[in-house]
Amino acid sequence: MALPQDQIPLLALPIEELPGQGYRRGQLAAWLYAKGARQWDEMTDLPKALRAEWAEQYRISEFTEVAPFPSQDGSVKYLFTLLDGQKTEAVYMPYLNRKTICISSMVGCPAGCTFCATGRMGFGRNLTAAEMLDQVLFAAYHQQHAPREIRNVVLMGMGEPLLNLENVFKALERMLHPEGLAMSPRRITLSTVGIPRGIYKMAEWGLEVRLALSLHAPDDETRQRIIPTAHRYSIAEIMEAVRHYYAKTKRRITLEYTLLKGVNDHDWQARALAQHFRGLSVHMNLIPWNPWEGAPHQGTPRAQILKFAAILEQQGIPTSVRWSRGRDVGAACGQLALKQPA
Ligand code: SF4
Repeated sequence: MALPQDQIPLLALPIEELPGQGYRRGQLAAWLYAKGARQWDEMTDLPKALRAEWAEQYRISEFTEVAPFPSQDGSVKYLFTLLDGQKTEAVYMPYLNRKTICISSMVGCPAGCTFCATGRMGFGRNLTAAEMLDQVLFAAYHQQHAPREIRNVVLMGMGEPLLNLENVFKALERMLHPEGLAMSPRRITLSTVGIPRGIYKMAEWGLEVRLALSLHAPDDETRQRIIPTAHRYSIAEIMEAVRHYYAKTKRRITLEYTLLKGVNDHDWQARALAQHFRGLSVHMNLIPWNPWEGAPHQGTPRAQILKFAAILEQQGIPTSVRWSRGRDVGAACGQLALKQPA
């Protein structure tokens, strides 16, 4: 039997290139993406000999170990060990009318945002398309859902997806494919800290997935203090890319903004922030900062969060406050750092 790392990852293959021809290939796609099989034995309508042959050449799972950490609010953080021993995380979040999974696109992250525990870890490596897809498939399996019951995927876990464009694009293709996860593009959100060339690429792709922009400050000086890699692209360059994206796609852009006490939460910053988005269709999610050990920040008090939101609203920016889930198990926004909760 070939070792898993020597086998071809099935989830890395475009659906049309899965092994088997016609009917058999369709059966395999259905087992993987519609029924969520994680073992060859489960694929009972495929001939035994064929399963044995494929099991030699192909692997289904990308993880050697998975540790789930349930939060009191119903979310579950998954800590995945990959075949090379590296680790990454995803968070499953059930809501009344939908099930969402937040997946990672990297091990760690090179952006180094000072308010984010993942940024503190540094960069491990890019995840492959198969490793991204398997986060969704494993969470569905563990929650006893068929994979297609997971209707919402957000790429907001570890990593900057637009710095891993090729693999992210392949994973999105499998999520959208009718024989894959058959997801609606409007239910997939890709969150970026602002990589202009990636935003231009997204405009070109023509996949109707949602773009979420995390500017985190309205001025370059503050931004560079909290996002060390921000000196590579000015806000003006990012906004030029965003305006191009909007002109091309006409799709509403989600904005994410983590509020840090005394850093980016002043009234003038709310007004300045609103100026950037004049003429665009946007929705702002303000994210109260989620604490982690050793962080050099404090969260903005609730009263100022609400005032910041009110100023944005007055300036014509529809705004919500997103109170994160999974804080008790280190699963909330900005807390992912491969830590096992006590
Ligand atoms: S906030 Fe996002 S881009 Fe910044 S370090 Fe964390 S994961 Fe990376």
